[in-house]
Amino acid sequence: MTARIESIKRIGRRTRKVEEKSVHSIHFGMKVFSLRLMEQVLPKKIYQNVLAASEGKEKLDPANADAIAAAMKDWALQNGATHFTHWFQPLTGASAEKHDSFLSWSGNGTVLESFRGKELLRGEPDASSFPSGGLRATHQARGYTVWDPASAPFLWKGGDGVTLCIPSLFFSWTGLALDHKIPLLRSDEKINAAAMRLLKFCEIAAGRVFSTVGPEQEYFLIDRAFYLLRPDLHLAGRTVYGAKPAKGQELEDHYFGPVKDRVMAFMREFEEEAVKLGIPIKTRHNEVAPAQHEVAPLFENAAAAVDHNLILMELMRQIALEHDLACLTHEKPFAGINGSGKHNNWSLATDTGINLLDPRENTLLFLTLLTAILRAVHDHAGLMRASIGSAGNDHRLGGSEAPPTILSVYLGERLEKVVDHLIDEKPIPEALIRQIDLGLAHVPLHEADAGDRNRTSFFAFTGNKFEFRAVGASAHSAFPITVINAIVADALHLILDEIGDIVKDRTLSQEELLRAALPCLRKHLRISKGVVFGGNAYTAEWEAEAVRRGLPNIRKSFHSFAQLTDQRTQRVFQGVLSEEELHSRFEVLVERYVKTMQIEASLMLELFRTQVLPAALHDQKRRSKALKNLADLGIQPSSHLLAGLKAFSDAAGAAAQAVDEIEKVLRQSADFGFEAKGKAYAEILDPKMEEARRLVDHLETLVDNALWPLPKYREMLFLV
Ligand code: ADP
Ligand code: MG
Repeated sequence: MTARIESIKRIGRRTRKVEEKSVHSIHFGMKVFSLRLMEQVLPKKIYQNVLAASEGKEKLDPANADAIAAAMKDWALQNGATHFTHWFQPLTGASAEKHDSFLSWSGNGTVLESFRGKELLRGEPDASSFPSGGLRATHQARGYTVWDPASAPFLWKGGDGVTLCIPSLFFSWTGLALDHKIPLLRSDEKINAAAMRLLKFCEIAAGRVFSTVGPEQEYFLIDRAFYLLRPDLHLAGRTVYGAKPAKGQELEDHYFGPVKDRVMAFMREFEEEAVKLGIPIKTRHNEVAPAQHEVAPLFENAAAAVDHNLILMELMRQIALEHDLACLTHEKPFAGINGSGKHNNWSLATDTGINLLDPRENTLLFLTLLTAILRAVHDHAGLMRASIGSAGNDHRLGGSEAPPTILSVYLGERLEKVVDHLIDEKPIPEALIRQIDLGLAHVPLHEADAGDRNRTSFFAFTGNKFEFRAVGASAHSAFPITVINAIVADALHLILDEIGDIVKDRTLSQEELLRAALPCLRKHLRISKGVVFGGNAYTAEWEAEAVRRGLPNIRKSFHSFAQLTDQRTQRVFQGVLSEEELHSRFEVLVERYVKTMQIEASLMLELFRTQVLPAALHDQKRRSKALKNLADLGIQPSSHLLAGLKAFSDAAGAAAQAVDEIEKVLRQSADFGFEAKGKAYAEILDPKMEEARRLVDHLETLVDNALWPLPKYREMLFLV
């Protein structure tokens, strides 16, 4: 019996892990050294300094560090912590940590727990062992991590140990950013400056503007027994082989369907832990593909949302283990069904609680910001494409409810009409609220939203925020958000400069201001209108239309990465990332792409040669023998059986040949540099991998089920 069949038996006997779990608001943030807690335990003056620093109003005074560290240590020890770590976000896409215990010498051979301000403020990891795109080498390895007082320290339980995690920024000895967090924070400063200028123009008072993000995280959940039998899943996060099951998602019976007991037990446990870590989990449901689900928190400021999303993904991964499950956050773990996104809902908010993308707040404000966003997306479509680019997302984009690779903006019917009228110098239409009457006596009339939903859109307006749908499920959210902040800030300055030249009279009423600003807004809307598209973005007509409109359609992520080193990108990234830092990120993206492709190609070779082919040949031998036995008995085997055997042998041979082709490309490009490899992989290797997969998947449909070694799609997707 194959290990696969044994697993199916084992899974059939699994029972649900029953534990009383409930998420309550009183648990919220109990594992976080929050501002509320600091207010209680720190001297008032020190607390006020931390508070002001967390709001970006003043620098943290190093003289306060010892007192803060001592209070933090006491709290951490009371809650079971033995170690502390600077928790930071290098360019690997995941978080990093190096634990130190609180122990230090206290004289005469004894030790005690201590935590000095110096240790809180700064750590010194070896920067050359993280991707740095050439910024750090083994002989120039010094890097620093420093506490970011805007992110609260938290307690992380791993195994039996509890560690105090201090969210930190990571940079080189020369001061270059080596992480995702520094540019994100800088981009927030940049959008703050531009948006404050806009607010001032619109005569709206506020102290600060920041970007808000609510990342919807999609994921798959499969039984761990199957996961362990799929080296492709644990090494690459996605299946490199797997035939289409007889049933996939065509019955549309999974989306919003009842959540299975085992899955619900898992959801409740990770939600409870997340809430304790201060992550405001709000939504859970089954997604479209079988075994696919979604979790979404309430939105927060961008930095907190990004931290929390990383922590959440790690929590889900760990807690899945305890439930004998595996949580897959890859963009496309399974071919032929929906992939997973991390829709980054984005908006701008003031510290006084105004959502700048709420059209009801202020028409001048909204229309100016909207114009800036359209102009930004129009001018930097390629950069936005690069910001979500990865080998993994390439498998997802362009089908199964994921956005295509053409960048377009969906505004919804009503807003698109407003934009059209502005451009055509027609009066702005009144709110086009529709009432839906279901024709039932007891059901009230229902107000329809201003726009429909468009799941094929890259970047969609959803009433009071934009949903960046193209971001992949495994992605680190910081870079796409950094890009939006930077390009919108730039476009806002451009527009406000022009309006400022026209509108000199500061005594105008809001309506007069709007009238005066309209010609400028109109000009920019006319330039950018091409990116607005409300139809089905999957059609060939749209592809042709997009070409006519001059919109970039960068199919393979690799070809988008050069956008990072483009002069226009360098200009909008001023104050966010330097030319050198941008170049390093370009290199990191290219290297990561190449290495991911290499891992997947190697997996295809290995799995085929050590598992699939032996099973196929074994089967072939038995089939040949069976037919020969018939012939020995004087029974001429049916021509169908003989043809079947021939087809089987041909299928195995064709798959073996296609797999050999993969090896050939790997060999031919072995001495290339990363960029040349990336190009060869995107253009030559990728189609070869697809072809090999098609042939191996066909073989899977022929080989004796009892011999097939790799868990099948129908098992992984339906046996949870
Ligand atoms: P959908 O209906 O698109 O699936 P969800 O409810 O799953 O929506 O997720 C919407 C996400 O958008 C949530 O995380 C929510 O907090 C977030 N969101 C709502 N308003 C804003 C805003 N102003 N800025 C950023 N994110 C927001
Ligand atoms: Mg959702």
